[in-house]
Amino acid sequence: MSEPEEYYRRVLGLLEEHHRWFKAVIPLIASENIPSPAVREAMTSDFGNRYAEGWPGERVYAGCRYIDEVEVICQDLIKKLYKAEFADVRPISGVVANLSLYTAFTEPGDTMMALSIPAGGHISMGKKRLGGTAGAVHGLNVEYLPLDYKELTIDVEKAKKRIRKLVEEGKSPKLVMFGGSVFPFPHPVKELEETIHDVGAKIGYDAAHVAGLIAGGRFQDPLREGADAMTFSTHKTFFGPQHGGIVSWEKYAEVIKRAVFPGMVSNHHLHSVAGVAIAAAELLKFGREYASQVVRNAKALGQALYERGFNVLGEHKGFTESHVILVDITKYGDGGTIEKELEKANIIINRNLLPWDIKEGRHFMNPGGIRLGVSEVTRLGFKEKHMEIIADFISRVVVRGEDPAKIKEEVAEFRRDFQKVHYCFENLTEAYEYVKIR
Ligand SMILES: *Cc1c(COP(=O)(O)O)cnc(C)c1O
Repeated sequence: MSEPEEYYRRVLGLLEEHHRWFKAVIPLIASENIPSPAVREAMTSDFGNRYAEGWPGERVYAGCRYIDEVEVICQDLIKKLYKAEFADVRPISGVVANLSLYTAFTEPGDTMMALSIPAGGHISMGKKRLGGTAGAVHGLNVEYLPLDYKELTIDVEKAKKRIRKLVEEGKSPKLVMFGGSVFPFPHPVKELEETIHDVGAKIGYDAAHVAGLIAGGRFQDPLREGADAMTFSTHKTFFGPQHGGIVSWEKYAEVIKRAVFPGMVSNHHLHSVAGVAIAAAELLKFGREYASQVVRNAKALGQALYERGFNVLGEHKGFTESHVILVDITKYGDGGTIEKELEKANIIINRNLLPWDIKEGRHFMNPGGIRLGVSEVTRLGFKEKHMEIIADFISRVVVRGEDPAKIKEEVAEFRRDFQKVHYCFENLTEAYEYVKIR
């Protein structure tokens, strides 16, 4: 390739190939989903070419007549979904939402508590030494919340002890962040609320993964349990475009607004705000049904894999109460190798650290686990019985070592019947149809 037009054609061609591929895969990445055709339409609108700094009605630019109305609708829908007094829909991602919250509630040098990455925490809550956002960007001293390896949630008694110890050491936390990227069971917000507020810290809840389930009333309800604010991504279980948001109480509205703008965003991707509004309306209407099916599917996939010999964590608690399951894959190899083998069979999953991996000398490229999420396949109309079929495909590749190229053909055949997006108002266009407007 050397001519500009060759590159141009090549990129457009790759996009089309990606779409063709995804029509034929089983997408099980826990942080992904498929938006409705209406959301995709919003994403191609002219809103994506405009600027609207500030708050609706107080913009820095003219031309925002329709943009302002959409953003106010988006705020209203988000407030309804989470029964929140205040919503800011401008953070352009979950990380930006978290950083905004750190800015609103802490000063550099303060202590924040969160889960470590092997325990399911996210890089945005990470220590400076690891390049994590909280430490490296906002200068927070990050101390870890203790994870109960068996229960796969935060250990309440150990957490209370650790908080008291930090107070004694003069490192009293200013913010405690619940939530994580491996989030099969609710976190003990209610149980720790008093201890945390007693030491003068605020409670943040990172719902990046579970925002769609909370919206559907099928996970915990952080704001009712004592959280001062909840941050979220809008594209994981919340099936909108890639974006972020914060909900909180009226008393924190001003400090959060200022942290977001001028603190963290200039323009805030107005096509995405429109897409979030559309997805929020879909969740308001179909969220309960969708979230219930997601949780049923995740439990069914856990059970089906367990019955085929996989070491699915959390068995004594029904494997999961969310969209995600975590499998200790060490019986069959390492997570990195298995991720690649499954990809050859058109089954898209990700390798994942197990909570004890670092201690056992495993690292992120070749961890002991794989993580599977069922939100996207649920949106495509998969039910419990289809989880058995997925488990069979996975087992044939991983346990029986069948040729992934052969499985890939069967996967494509199986996927043929699931080409529409469900839990939305209109689905004329197929889920992964490549829309050409040139
Ligand atoms: C995915 C994730 C984020 C980041 O979200 P982006 O929208 O990708 O920036 C933040 N926190 C947790 C726990 C996550 O899993």
